[in-house]
Amino acid sequence: MQIDDTKKLRAYRGHIVSPQRGGELKDFRDGILIVDENGVIVFVGEWSEFEKQNKPLKDIQHFGDRLILPGLIDMHLHLPQVAVTGKSGEHLLKWLERFVFPSEARCADPDYALRISNWFFDELARNGTTLGVVFATIHKQATDIAFEVAAQKGARAIIGKVMMNANSPPALTEKLEDSLNGSAELCDKWHGYDDGRLMYAFTPRFAVSSTSELMSKCGELWHSKPGSYLHTHLAESQEEIDFVMERFPKCRSYADVYHQHGLLARNNIMAHSIHLDEDDVKVLKSTDSSLAHCPSSNFFLKSGIFPYRKIESSGIRFGIGSDVAAGPQMSLFCVMKDANYIQPDNWISPVELLYRATLGGAQALGLDHRIGSLEAGKEADFIIVDPSNRTGIIDDILSQPTEEILSALVFLGDDRVVESTFVRGKEIYSRQKTPQLSHSV
Ligand SMILES: [Zn+2]
Repeated sequence: MQIDDTKKLRAYRGHIVSPQRGGELKDFRDGILIVDENGVIVFVGEWSEFEKQNKPLKDIQHFGDRLILPGLIDMHLHLPQVAVTGKSGEHLLKWLERFVFPSEARCADPDYALRISNWFFDELARNGTTLGVVFATIHKQATDIAFEVAAQKGARAIIGKVMMNANSPPALTEKLEDSLNGSAELCDKWHGYDDGRLMYAFTPRFAVSSTSELMSKCGELWHSKPGSYLHTHLAESQEEIDFVMERFPKCRSYADVYHQHGLLARNNIMAHSIHLDEDDVKVLKSTDSSLAHCPSSNFFLKSGIFPYRKIESSGIRFGIGSDVAAGPQMSLFCVMKDANYIQPDNWISPVELLYRATLGGAQALGLDHRIGSLEAGKEADFIIVDPSNRTGIIDDILSQPTEEILSALVFLGDDRVVESTFVRGKEIYSRQKTPQLSHSV
């Protein structure tokens, strides 16, 4: 293929690995990724093939045998909770009350909201996450600040103001009208910003803290805003489910509560979705719902085991999420490892796990025509990765077969392996250029 080098092109040479549909890997050992001035990929392939057919390129960054991977997609995490990572010792409902709600209440203060948003988006980029699907808090202003910070830092994100109008502490309980109007205004302001780099998700926290009216009106609002998302938690812990069934006794199950309120449809994200019966799986499939599997969080809060193979064979689209802070860290490499470890009887291969954290997530979000893998025509969201930055991994790991490298990444990788992060062709994090980040709130 001949490349038109009259355009301002940037090229990145290294070991390019990109998961494909059906478990295949695109693997160019000495590969070249070429990106145009709009951040769109114009070529991916072997350097030797490219060199034969094209004039020399001016602007090439050389990464040697380090990996160039698609950016990681975190399907579910909470912005205000970066301040309470690692606070453990309780199941879901008690943990929320003791650690999470007090820290979320602090976001009423816009200065605090700004500090925590800066911290959050710095961490996201540092961990190689190029798309986060993010719960903010109930505060409209704090959510607006989160969007501002994401816009300014070049992050890609789907963000939503949390909606809570029942069974919540007074500082986190809002009036129905305020919840709906605030969400609608934020969606109108931010959904589609910068050609879709930022998008909006209507975000009722869960059925525990939502009235029936909030859920149905939220559903109507979501359906009236084309392309927007609906993001919530489903069937995470048994205690939560018992509470929900007490509140909505006419519904057959937790999934049915959302179904009855119009929240099951394409463009939703149901985080966790652990405790599901056959009918729940059928309705999630028939409504084209998407799931976010959060294994680290499920370990941490002892919530249960996601029925991975059952969901996979049902054809329901799903990706993985860190669920910070119920997941104690943002690194999706750690989450991939946990997705393997938490299954008692299934082996999920490193290649498949990497697929779930990239293209699988993009498919679940209906964005695989734009991101999720390194292919010509897609936007250039990618990361440069060197597993040998992490002590405990053999120094010559990069010269091993690709599957061995991915195995080391998945089972031993964390934030330290990420050298730089690019969103739509723009570098938003570089380990070399970034001083040690310190944050206090
Ligand atoms: Zn969550």
